[in-house]
Amino acid sequence: MRKLSELETKALPEVVEAFIPYGRQSISPADIEAVTAVLQSDWLTQGPAIEQFERAVAAQCGARYAVAVSSATAGLHLACLAAGVKPGNRVWTVPNTFVASANAARYCGADVDFVDIDPQTYNLDVAQLQAKLERAQQQNALPDVLIPVHFAGQSCQMQDIHRLSKTYGFTMIEDAAHAIGGQYQGQPVGSGKYSAMTVFSFHPVKIVTTGEGGVIVTNREDLYQHLLRLRSHGITREPALMTQPAEGPWYYEQLELGFNYRMTDLQAALGASQMQRIEGFITRRRELVARYNRLLAQFPLVLPHQHPETQSAWHLYVIQLDATRTAKTRREVFESLRAHQIGVQVHYIPVHTQPYYRQLGFAPGDFPVAEAYYAQAISLPLYADLTDAEQDRVVRVLAAALSDAHPG
Ligand SMILES: *Cc1c(COP(=O)(O)O)cnc(C)c1O
Repeated sequence: MRKLSELETKALPEVVEAFIPYGRQSISPADIEAVTAVLQSDWLTQGPAIEQFERAVAAQCGARYAVAVSSATAGLHLACLAAGVKPGNRVWTVPNTFVASANAARYCGADVDFVDIDPQTYNLDVAQLQAKLERAQQQNALPDVLIPVHFAGQSCQMQDIHRLSKTYGFTMIEDAAHAIGGQYQGQPVGSGKYSAMTVFSFHPVKIVTTGEGGVIVTNREDLYQHLLRLRSHGITREPALMTQPAEGPWYYEQLELGFNYRMTDLQAALGASQMQRIEGFITRRRELVARYNRLLAQFPLVLPHQHPETQSAWHLYVIQLDATRTAKTRREVFESLRAHQIGVQVHYIPVHTQPYYRQLGFAPGDFPVAEAYYAQAISLPLYADLTDAEQDRVVRVLAAALSDAHPG
């Protein structure tokens, strides 16, 4: 028998386990068919798929109007503009969010400030909001707009925040990038019961995807018309809105400074097809969350807390290390998971500690609850196509990372 060469012996494969990301899209044959059908059609952008997708999102939310845009970031920008945000205005949001929630206000030239989070839900803390509003009123510095963020897919306490918005006179824009399919008081997130506009993201790690994309939902016709115009250069073809008589059938008017924030029909077709699967996505995410809750119950961790009035869409499953029960640091556990091909992430580095916001005057220590939460947080893999076996592997590696054992 031939002897194995040294090279061949060395090449004997070790078992390399596949990388498990923290989030990813689920694409079905029907999704692919929907996109290729658009490629064979007459419209690649702003065709019939846009309206179909917008109708699907509006129906999901029980809202009257939906405007599809190129990203949730673009959607937040337009929502701020439609809410009248301008230089010198004040916009408040939370530090525990993606930078886009705050940046949208900066695009409009507004001053940003933050409200700290609730240590249990990691969402905007209503008591802290109230206290900050009382102080702001005395200083004649009340906010014009508040952007609550439904972190990880769990709704904020919208009824309480809405009550404060009436007392103190600010507009509410919900950043629901994590929360399509979630519920609050039995109503879908985006119903618009307690806010002017709600913005969803369709980035591939979110619940439903269009590749890149966002949707703004609202119940107000005036905001809807304004958002449509801002999405496309500030241009109108509505004779009733024009300042001069139409010069011919080609005529349009640019009424204000708008943008090209349109979504393509390719993306919208994917979105419309995905929206037909949303119930399955949410159901699978809930199953995986129930499994995590059961499998991790005895670990030295703080598991996600659910407010009784909410049904999360479960964009993220965030654990915190419980420092009273483990000597392991977040960094050690995080690196150990990554070393074993578990694609954990951290949501979020508090926005006010980013260099851009420090240069505007914020500093570490400003929002201690968000900072303390951040110091211990890890997002575990969670997405509709994650299998039970893959989830079991995440739990095994996490168990080993929290003990001194070598993860097998
Ligand atoms: C993802 C995200 C956004 C931005 O969404 P894009 O569609 O990527 O622009 C905004 N806010 C939050 C909270 C997000 O998670």
